[in-house]
Amino acid sequence: MNTSTSSSTMSTTASDATAASALPRIAVLATGGTIAGAAADATNTSGYQAGVVGVEQLLSVVPALSALARIHAEQVASVDSKDMTLALWTTLAQRINTLLAADDIDGVVVTHGTDTLEETAYLLHLTVKSDKPVVLTAAMRPASALSADGPLNLLNAVTVAAHANSRGQGVLVAFNNKIHSARDVVKTSTYAVDAFQSPEVGALGWVQDGRVEFQRQVVRPHTLGAEFFIGDKWPHVEIVASYAGVSRIAVDALVAAGVRGIVVAGTGNGSIHASVQQALADAASQGVAIVRSSRVGSGHVMRNGAAADDVLGFVSAGSLNPYKARVLLMLALAVGGTGPVALQKTFDTY
Ligand code: ASP
Repeated sequence: MNTSTSSSTMSTTASDATAASALPRIAVLATGGTIAGAAADATNTSGYQAGVVGVEQLLSVVPALSALARIHAEQVASVDSKDMTLALWTTLAQRINTLLAADDIDGVVVTHGTDTLEETAYLLHLTVKSDKPVVLTAAMRPASALSADGPLNLLNAVTVAAHANSRGQGVLVAFNNKIHSARDVVKTSTYAVDAFQSPEVGALGWVQDGRVEFQRQVVRPHTLGAEFFIGDKWPHVEIVASYAGVSRIAVDALVAAGVRGIVVAGTGNGSIHASVQQALADAASQGVAIVRSSRVGSGHVMRNGAAADDVLGFVSAGSLNPYKARVLLMLALAVGGTGPVALQKTFDTY
């Protein structure tokens, strides 16, 4: 993994320096992913290596960018996002906060792999300390493919980041002409170019041919309104699933390993197999934070009161999927939010 940060500035055409200097200045931070992937031939959209094309090359195939923004480019990492690490999250979030604190940066675009994009986006949504736009984008087809989707997604992401109406909306994901909130967006297809949805609530808006339109607003707190911070210490939180015939072995092993929290991807409305529920109850009695989410993919998990939550000290993840619930639980534990009552308030708030 290359986490070294290199940077450069993509110059505008310079024929009209005055007009160019009036353009917003957008930092493009590249982290790898399929958008930076390359295969041996253009018809191959699955057997490729992610994260091998550099940020300069990604930008060079989208000359229209120079009419939209003055681009400051940085190669923050070159990873397949399936291998995203907590250390890289720290590096990325800290770099974004540093850039956005500068007067001469108006917004940030992050190019990322699709696999864990929804986790990184939600993490940034809760830890970026600025109301300037932060927009993540990605691609389902490698840069080398026929009809690669990365260049248009990158153009649209910069368009959204440079748009005045994107300010204060929290972290956004621009993908396949849609604009999603980082809180709601999830990857819903293993191969389709339209791979991201915001189940139940829908996208925030759309971007096409330079036009940006928001159709709704995020109401839960984020960025400047969130109480969380990026550090380099991450409370150990893992995810387990409930399914037919599941045993308590995984939960017991995690507790023995010293986890601070466990998110359970429950069935239906966050229901849990009796064997795992007993293991989680035992874990909760030892001070491990237990959050019930659902493996279903849409809908929310209601608190079940006397059935488990009130009695056993469990917390409901609401409409967060297990992966986003883990992000919030790590951040909450890092700022000292312990105990099921305080944690439930956190999940009800964010
Ligand atoms: N494995 C790739 C990644 O997440 C998939 C992609 O970007 O579409 O980096």
